[in-house]
Amino acid sequence: MGPDLLRDFAPEVCVVGAGPVGSFLALRLGAAGLRTHLIERRAQPPARSMAIGVMPPTLRRMAALGLDAELSLAGIRVRRAVAHDERQVLGFLDFSSLPPPHNYVLSLPQGALVSALWRRLRGEPSVVFETDCTVEDIALDRWGAAVRKIASDGTARLLRCQFLALCDGARGRLRTRLGPDSFARPYGPRFVMGDAPDAADWGDEAHLFFTPFGSLESFPLPDGRRRWVALMRPGDPEAPAAALDERIRRLTGAPGRAGDWIGTSRFAPERRLAPRYFHGRAILCGDAAHVMSPIGGQGMNTGLGDAARLAEALIAILRAGADAETELRRYQRERRRVFLRAAARAARGMWLGTRTGRGASALRSALIRFLLGAPARQSSLARYFSMWSLPDAAPLLERDSSPWKEAPA
Ligand SMILES: Cc1cc2nc3c(=O)[nH]c(=O)nc-3n(C[C@H](O)[C@H](O)[C@H](O)COP(=O)(O)OP(=O)(O)OC[C@H]3O[C@@H](n4cnc5c(N)ncnc54)[C@H](O)[C@@H]3O)c2cc1C
Repeated sequence: MGPDLLRDFAPEVCVVGAGPVGSFLALRLGAAGLRTHLIERRAQPPARSMAIGVMPPTLRRMAALGLDAELSLAGIRVRRAVAHDERQVLGFLDFSSLPPPHNYVLSLPQGALVSALWRRLRGEPSVVFETDCTVEDIALDRWGAAVRKIASDGTARLLRCQFLALCDGARGRLRTRLGPDSFARPYGPRFVMGDAPDAADWGDEAHLFFTPFGSLESFPLPDGRRRWVALMRPGDPEAPAAALDERIRRLTGAPGRAGDWIGTSRFAPERRLAPRYFHGRAILCGDAAHVMSPIGGQGMNTGLGDAARLAEALIAILRAGADAETELRRYQRERRRVFLRAAARAARGMWLGTRTGRGASALRSALIRFLLGAPARQSSLARYFSMWSLPDAAPLLERDSSPWKEAPA
């Protein structure tokens, strides 16, 4: 699209940031015919390893755009997780009891999810999608917002819109223009993470080890790879690859990789919640509004739920004449409630994954054996981990249904 056309395309909504959350929001708005302008600093989807767990309620939301089948076929459908301590298997968590057709947790790297959303965005007639362009500043007035954006060739332009959605992620700085930023609170423990060609003999299963010397999680990835995540302990090798190799050998008795590590990193989980999700006509969505520990795999999924709910609110305001303040207050109330529930779960997941020492570990093993020991408890745990038991999930079962019928895996 040429610059003149860009200038003449007056958007109703401007979305800053085309990570998973901003991309999904723009697609939902575009599908409803809202004129949307999406601006992203990157030229390409990110290659860095981040989220891999796409939860069933998210797939149900993707089904509204007909994207669930494409994503499911690109990822690995994880139907079973196996919990171990250092000596034995403690139990199994079976996701196949979840409501079909999405009765699994989909393992799909965040970059692959974003690529699929970008491909769809390029064909969406109501969305102008500008990559390689950074929003430098924003300003609000009672009619809407103005955005100052700079393209990679240095050209600066102003863009006006009626509503501005900030989906610029945890590191985005634009929210500080709206008011004081919230503090990030570190949980304390640090983790190492890496992806490698898969040498474990576990097929599509996830395996979780909870031991006195630290935890280790292992998830299948597409293209014959596996993701490994380990709690860092004092005395661990400083290099993430060496720390992972050692932990995997110690806990599984075998090398986990059949080739070189493809990207390793360290991370120190944090929690942050913005005091407000909207200021006038500027709205925060996804990691721009909140961050929780990645342990438990809920951050991106919660953000995608924000995006779906914000799209509903903006469609009601701009197409059905609903009152903006009332709709955005509802969005804020409902989505903060979901965040608080999800973050409390992430904190429990952190507790479980960071106990070390013989006594605490024995207690944890007994708890896990109890929780996974009876079919009724197992199936409510499957709903819990798959995010079906969060307050925003139940209405999805009634409202959206996927026309996609899964082929045998
Ligand atoms: C190690 C790790 C593992 C994780 N695993 C999981 C998991 O398994 N499941 C899960 O649900 N979550 C997981 N998460 C969390 C998940 O990665 C985030 O919640 C998710 O990335 C949030 O998406 P977002 O679109 O809000 O923000 P981001 O993905 O950060 O996207 C923000 C986008 O905005 C762009 N941007 C920023 N500033 C500007 C600007 N000024 N102008 C234009 N563009 C801009 C950025 O380039 C970026 O593309 C994990 C996180 C980490 C760190």
